[in-house]
Amino acid sequence: MQLGRQDPYVAAFNELVKRVFGDLTVTQIQDLLFFHQHTPLVARRRAMLIISRVRMVSAVFALLTPVWIVVDMLIFSWPLWGELAALRLAATLAFALLAFGFRTSESVGAAHRALFWLLAVPTLFFLISHPLIGSSNLSGPAAAVATGYAFLPFVMVAGLSVFPITALEGALFAAPMILAQVGVAFYGDMNLFSFSSLLGALWLLLVLSTVATLAGMSQLHFMMALVNQASHDGLTHGFTRRVGEELFELQFGHSVRTDTPLSCVFIDLDNFKRVNDRFGHEEGDRILRKASDGIRKCLRRGDVMVRWGGEEFVIIMPHTDCTGALTAAMRMRGLSLGLRPDGEPQTASIGIAERNSDACTDWQHLVEMADQRMYAAKQNGRNRICICNGEMISDETPFPGTPGL
Ligand code: GH3
Ligand code: MG
Ligand code: MG
Repeated sequence: MQLGRQDPYVAAFNELVKRVFGDLTVTQIQDLLFFHQHTPLVARRRAMLIISRVRMVSAVFALLTPVWIVVDMLIFSWPLWGELAALRLAATLAFALLAFGFRTSESVGAAHRALFWLLAVPTLFFLISHPLIGSSNLSGPAAAVATGYAFLPFVMVAGLSVFPITALEGALFAAPMILAQVGVAFYGDMNLFSFSSLLGALWLLLVLSTVATLAGMSQLHFMMALVNQASHDGLTHGFTRRVGEELFELQFGHSVRTDTPLSCVFIDLDNFKRVNDRFGHEEGDRILRKASDGIRKCLRRGDVMVRWGGEEFVIIMPHTDCTGALTAAMRMRGLSLGLRPDGEPQTASIGIAERNSDACTDWQHLVEMADQRMYAAKQNGRNRICICNGEMISDETPFPGTPGL
């Protein structure tokens, strides 16, 4: 196949995907299907949201589950209602433990555990109560209430729509409930479900879980859009400082754990106040946007650009040592940060620091070092890069040799 030219079938397929999924990119579609590649920010926010909803739903069920004991008492005879009441009290305790005992966390694993336990409680309740009710000969209102018990898996599957989940999670969490339905049909008395009604029930469960998962995916999409919007600065589209600090914390921890380099590049546009004063604030905004576009073009996939302050940017560069960070900084200057209206290039003073070579104990220290070097570059005449060993690189300096950097 020729590179650079698109196969007409591929083009037609892409067009079809576009029509079906609208503006969704391939990455976004992947993120709606699987959770493994969510950005750390989305993963953390989603985990918190799922856990808080699990707690909320558990609290509601902890209150509602025992209330129904009264209905069972009036409808069913002893000892059935007593057995069901004991089950309900156990379920209430489990829900209460989930609501008040499960700690808030930003870990996806914890969110999965929370969701698992939330669904495990009614599934177990269903597995135990179904044969109890099935083995009693019921008629009239008692039979009607018993049928209500049999609907429990449908309620649980529909409940998945409350959570911002991926398609994979929808399938994984719906599967045990569908299996529970099959299980009770085989080990329980079939007087609540004949074989044909079991097939009908399974079909309905499948449809319901698909619809509930789609609702969960749409929540996830909405959540991702919100996180994305709230974490980026509207003018330059860099990450906001608050989010940048959070990402720094994550990347610093990862760098320490894996013993890999982590660089920080601090960029401050030169004499920007003068640009505003001479050409107006709107022109200033345009240059700021151009400069941030220029910076972004020089970054690698894992690098993170943060708008640290008005005309200051901080770049977090995971797996990058001083030399790598300098190469990126040189490229930024080479590609230019845009031109001012008078045709002069917009310059910047840049400071570079690296976790290992600067023996930084936390990310704040790393930024502080890069900031100090940026300031030294300013003091040295601006339009310079101050590297890890304190050396100044200006336009006239040839690209420094690797040793010593
Ligand atoms: P230096 O070379 O020492 O960094 O000088 P400077 O003028 O760039 O630095 P200073 O801190 O004195 O001024 C920063 C200026 O950046 C002041 C402010 O008006 C401008 N600025 C900050 N944010 C924005 C923005 O969003 N839009 C525009 N147009 N200007 C901004
Ligand atoms: Mg500044
Ligand atoms: Mg400045």
